[in-house]
Amino acid sequence: MNQDQLWKAALGQLELRVSQGNFLTWFRETKIKEIKSGTALIETPSAFAHEWLSRKYQQPILEILHDLDGGVQHVQFCIQSPIKMHKPLKKNSRILVQKNRPATLPDRIPTPVSMPAPPTPTPNSKFAKTLNPKYTFETFVIGPNNEVAHAACRAAASKPGEAYNPLFIYGGVGLGKTHLLQAVGNAILKEKPGARVLYVSSEKFINEFVQSIRERNTQKFKEYYRDVDVLIIDDVQFLAGKGKTQEELFHTFNSLHSQNRQIILSSDRSPKAIATLEERLRSRLAGGMQVDIQQPDYETRLAILAEKAETSHVKIDPESLAFIAKNIQKNVRELEGALNRVIAHCELNNRRATLEYTEKVLEGILDQPQQRTVDSKKILDVVSVYYNLSLDDLCGKCRKQEIVRPRQVAMYLLRKENNVSFPSIGDQFGGRDHTTAMHACEKIQKLLEHDEELLQDINFIRERLYA
Ligand code: ADP
Ligand code: MG
Repeated sequence: MNQDQLWKAALGQLELRVSQGNFLTWFRETKIKEIKSGTALIETPSAFAHEWLSRKYQQPILEILHDLDGGVQHVQFCIQSPIKMHKPLKKNSRILVQKNRPATLPDRIPTPVSMPAPPTPTPNSKFAKTLNPKYTFETFVIGPNNEVAHAACRAAASKPGEAYNPLFIYGGVGLGKTHLLQAVGNAILKEKPGARVLYVSSEKFINEFVQSIRERNTQKFKEYYRDVDVLIIDDVQFLAGKGKTQEELFHTFNSLHSQNRQIILSSDRSPKAIATLEERLRSRLAGGMQVDIQQPDYETRLAILAEKAETSHVKIDPESLAFIAKNIQKNVRELEGALNRVIAHCELNNRRATLEYTEKVLEGILDQPQQRTVDSKKILDVVSVYYNLSLDDLCGKCRKQEIVRPRQVAMYLLRKENNVSFPSIGDQFGGRDHTTAMHACEKIQKLLEHDEELLQDINFIRERLYA
C-alpha cells in the first residue's frame, strides 16, 4: 500500500467513526504528506483543521493507521495552503426550474482553493462601486443549506445571460443572499473588468424611480437601468404594493431579458409568496430559476465561523467556535456578530478565546434566544396583519377557508412559540374545544411537509414576531 492508498483506507474507517458533517468538515482535503521514521505527517487544508484534528482526532487516526500499517507509530499534522471551501454532499435545498429551462446544474462547479484575491479594479467605476469587494465566492462557505443557490450563482457568473436568467434567490434574513448576489457581480467583474454590473437594493430602485417621476426625468432612469450587462436587485419583497415601480421593473426586465442580459434577484420569499406583486411581473421573476437558501446546519455554521476566525489575529479555541455554532442557529449575521464580539473582547483584554471566556463574553446574548418568548397577543396581531384580517375575524366563528387557515396558523404558532396549552388556545379562539386547537396544530404541521408557500408565510411571521 502506498501513502495515498493507506490514507484512503484510513479515511474509509474514520468515516464510520465520526458524523458525516464532522467528516466532511475536518477530513476533506487531507492527505498523508510523508511517512518518516514511523511518523505519518498528515497535511490539512487550514490552521483550523490542523488544530481541530490534532486535538480531537489524533488518537483515532493513529490507531487506524497503525492497524493498517504497523510501521506507523506517531501522527503529526501540518498545514497546506488555506482553503475557503466547505463542501458537503447532502442536498436538501429545494430547487424549482421552469420546464423550458435547463433543469440541471453544471456537473462541475469550479472550486477555488486559494486565498481570495481582491477583485481587479474596474474602469467602469459607476457600476463597480455598487459592489462590496468583501462579498466573493471565495469567502462564501458552502453547506447543504446553500449549495444549490451557490452553484446556480456560480453558473450565472460564469455564463451571464445564458445559464439561468433570471436567477431568483430567496430565503430568510441573514442567510447570505446579498453575499451571493454580490459575489456574482464581483466574479463577473474580475473576469471582465469592463462589464457593466449594476447592483441595487429594491429600496434604492423604488426611491430613484419615485424621484425620477418627481423630477420629470423618468427617461434618464429608464436608460440608467436598461443600459447594463448584469442587473442585480436585492430584496424585491419590498416591491410589494408598489404598483408603478413594479410596472417599471417589468419593462426594464423585458428590455434586458430580450437582449440576454443577466438578471439576478433576491427576496425573503419565493415570488409566488410575495403578496401584491403584479401577476405579469411575478411570472417574469419566476420564469427562470428559483433557488432557496435555508438555515445552516451545525457543521456549516462551524465552518463559517472557522472561515471568519482564520482572518482574525486572535487565537480562538475550537471549543469556543463549537460553542458559538451550537448556540446561534438561525442567522449567519448573528453568528458573525457573536464571533466578532468575542474577538473584540479578546483584543481589548489581550486574552485568548477559550471556551470559558467565550461563554462569559456571550452570556447576555445567548440567554436571550433560550428565554425568548413573545406575547401571545403579539402572535395574534402579527398573524392578523399578515393575512389582512381583523382580530375578531381571526378569533371568531367564521368558517370560510381564507380565515380558517390563518386561524390554524395562529394556533400553531401559539403552541410552537409559546407552548400554550390546547385548552387555553381553544379559549383564546372564542371558547373552542381543545381538540380543535390540537387538530389545527397537526394540520399545519402536516402541511408544512410539502406546502412551501405556507412555510414561507410562517417563517416570515416568525421573523416579524422577533424583529
Ligand atoms: P441576507 O442578504 O440573506 O440577509 P447577507 O448576505 O447579508 O444575508 O449575510 C449576512 C452576513 O453573513 C454577511 O456578512 C455574509 O458575509 C455572512 N454569510 C452568510 N452566509 C455565509 C456563508 N455561507 N459563508 C460566509 N459568510 C456568510
Ligand atoms: Mg440582504
